[in-house]
Amino acid sequence: MKEAPFVSIIIPCYNEQEGINEAYRRVTAALQGDWNNGHEILFINDGSKDATLDILKQLAKSDSQIKLLSLSRNFGHQAAVGAGIAHCKGDVAIILDADLQDPPELFAQMVEVYRQNPCNVVFGVRKERKGETLFKRITARMFYRLLNWLAGMDLNTDTGDFRLIDRKVIDAFNGFNEKNKYIRGIISWMGFKQIPMHYNRDARLHGKTKYTLKKMLNLAGIAMFYFSKKPLKASLTLGFISILVGIALTIWVLYVQLGGGYTVPGWASTIITIIFFGGVQLLTIGVVGEYIGNILDEVKNRPEYIIDEKINF
Ligand code: UDP
Ligand code: MG
Repeated sequence: MKEAPFVSIIIPCYNEQEGINEAYRRVTAALQGDWNNGHEILFINDGSKDATLDILKQLAKSDSQIKLLSLSRNFGHQAAVGAGIAHCKGDVAIILDADLQDPPELFAQMVEVYRQNPCNVVFGVRKERKGETLFKRITARMFYRLLNWLAGMDLNTDTGDFRLIDRKVIDAFNGFNEKNKYIRGIISWMGFKQIPMHYNRDARLHGKTKYTLKKMLNLAGIAMFYFSKKPLKASLTLGFISILVGIALTIWVLYVQLGGGYTVPGWASTIITIIFFGGVQLLTIGVVGEYIGNILDEVKNRPEYIIDEKINF
């Protein structure tokens, strides 16, 4: 059995003013016990437009175990979590959403699982998703199916970012230079020993989801075009198929012409061919464009996020 670790809790927050105090209270309560050897709670304010930052500052004043990183604008959930992983001191870190959909009361159990098994990652697997719309559940399921197939990964359909990672994984993660990180994917890709822990996911405590459809699609795009070369290969296949279709059409046209069949008609088939191949070309260019966009992001080599303020570090 491993020794009791120093635990860092990483909580990204975007417009979570209604829930922060409650989150702090429950997280702190959940951290009592001798299964940990001290803790820090890292809040990352991801450019909130409401009172989130003020509330966090007040909490940080009253509790020095709170570390506060405030980003200069909204950089997105993954970047905020990345900032947390880069700044945590713990032997292990646990990533938690501010809306408490993943119950902090599971920390102790998660750390127990970690201590009793030879493993580097304990990832939460949701048994039940309360208070999530059918749309969200269906899109989430489709998303993982597609991603697993595309990227040749084995990401669990019901896994989010709620997980425990140990120092080895934290250090390895911090060594990743890519810009648009898809954290679940990267951690799963890393290997090491990873084991699941099953739990029930609660409904969001306050407010609405901060993952708009746009942000969800963006994340799906990162996962797809960063993690997989299959779309690129698919466009090659598509191009190949259309060439075959083109050859077949040509043979057919020649056959009809030489056979003295109808010569002037053929308008329909011409238009169909143009539209079809036009579509294939646009699609292919689009796929290539996504990859070029990604390369551009990498080449610019901009920071993933900018820190505006650091408190209690
Ligand atoms: N979040 C963030 N930046 C964003 C969007 C979300 O830091 O641009 C945080 C949010 O405050 C929450 C976590 O990411 O702590 C997960 O967001 P949410 O609960 O809205 O996502 P869902 O559970 O609906 O997927
Ligand atoms: Mg949530």
